[in-house]
Amino acid sequence: MNIILLGPPGAGKGTQARILMEGTGLVQLSTGDMLRAAVAAGSEVGRKAKAVMEAGQLVSDEIVIGVVSDRLDEPDTKTGVIFDGFPRTAAQAEALDRLLAAKGLVLDAVVSMEVDDALLVDRVSGRFTCAACGEGYHDTHKMPAVEGVCDKCGATEFKRRPDDNAETVRARLAAYHADTAPLIGYYTGTGKLQTVDGMADIGAVTRAIREVLG
Ligand code: AMP
Repeated sequence: MNIILLGPPGAGKGTQARILMEGTGLVQLSTGDMLRAAVAAGSEVGRKAKAVMEAGQLVSDEIVIGVVSDRLDEPDTKTGVIFDGFPRTAAQAEALDRLLAAKGLVLDAVVSMEVDDALLVDRVSGRFTCAACGEGYHDTHKMPAVEGVCDKCGATEFKRRPDDNAETVRARLAAYHADTAPLIGYYTGTGKLQTVDGMADIGAVTRAIREVLG
């Protein structure tokens, strides 16, 4: 099964992708994670993407489509992919259609996670992750059970994304509304769009996604 989680920054796409992966064989394909890894590695893609990401703007379609195409050639994606943060523009959506067709893959569903803008700045600017396993936390909504210790793996180091500050979040939200929200219309036209309330708690959103996926 190949699905897209569509939604603004802070909608919970990454959180839900990680939960949906457990026990299903699906892999999370997060272009944000892949670009951050490229920046950390100092690769050519990373050097081109760094400043754009820090400004909360979109990395070029050409770069992002190239990264996704390479990732889909890796064998672990054959059992199914959860696209998280991709596609983000009409050109990326059209490129994804072509890539999937060329690789003999099918897009099963697009899950749109709806969250009011007013909640997103708070959600994004309070979040942090375990540096070892990537488990997500939030300053007010989801602190580790034992302060300073990851619930999932016991590590004691955490990190925050440099683009998760209030000012950059506003730029990312503007990019979402200008370039990504129109994809809701695109996928409604294909009959594959499903909508869930992304404002419910994490478990309720997971149940809603599982229900629409059938
Ligand atoms: P994310 O982790 O999905 O919030 O992405 C972090 C940043 O990476 C975004 O603000 C963009 O600068 C860049 N990025 C991630 N995915 C894409 C994409 N599909 N198209 C363009 N830029 C992207």
